[in-house]
Amino acid sequence: MIVDTHIHTLFSSDSKMTINQALQKANELGVAITVTEHMDLAYPEPDAFVFDITDYFNEYEKYRSENLYLGIELGMRQDCIADNSTIVMNNQFDYVIGSIHVIDNIDIYNEDFYHMRSKQEVYHQYFDSMISCLKTYDFIDSLGHIDYIARYARFENPEIYYNEYSEKIDKVLKILAQNQKAIEINTRRIADPATLEALIPIYKRFYALGGRIATAGSDAHKPEDIGKNFNIAMNIAEMCNLKLVYFENRVPHFIK
Ligand SMILES: [Zn+2]
Ligand SMILES: [Zn+2]
Repeated sequence: MIVDTHIHTLFSSDSKMTINQALQKANELGVAITVTEHMDLAYPEPDAFVFDITDYFNEYEKYRSENLYLGIELGMRQDCIADNSTIVMNNQFDYVIGSIHVIDNIDIYNEDFYHMRSKQEVYHQYFDSMISCLKTYDFIDSLGHIDYIARYARFENPEIYYNEYSEKIDKVLKILAQNQKAIEINTRRIADPATLEALIPIYKRFYALGGRIATAGSDAHKPEDIGKNFNIAMNIAEMCNLKLVYFENRVPHFIK
């Protein structure tokens, strides 16, 4: 069964989707889902993007099945490694995504992050932050949305072109490959052919550097986004020789 491995429900500050809405939509589509609630420790706004993990398991444990897995999306930052590691160690997640959302205490979503700065400068900083986090966040399963910055960057062309950042992207991909981590094919932006053209060389390079597994995730915050563009994600994986997996009890399983 196809598994959409990146879904946000009510425990995520920016989602109003209930677990039942998510399950109903997944059932209609005939896909399984992994709930991956946002945990961005030390987020610039107090109490945003953090949730009570005990409540999460208390409320959702009963839904756990081969159609629903319980994960978390950790916002990676250098000053929260120990606390994030403790969270992963002390809880029985099926799956842990590591993502870069905040750099220098500013959410990449925020336009202040781009103010008076060039794309080169910002994107180099983005990949530097990813590299230094990945070196220490060895307790994640998959790197979330490598193209996250391209969603929000205030540049005329926000796409990430491998050739422009090859040295740094290689470092990111090598760390993942050496540690046998997955890379996420985030499906939010891949319906755009220009985006696809920019991202495919990155996923191909992951394979060339020894990476073998990928997760596919919609990053849905609404039912209608669940499973979105999964046909494209499956094509990307095949084209790049990557095997799509989902995680159960932190162990990867191939999606057939
Ligand atoms: Zn994210
Ligand atoms: Zn997400």
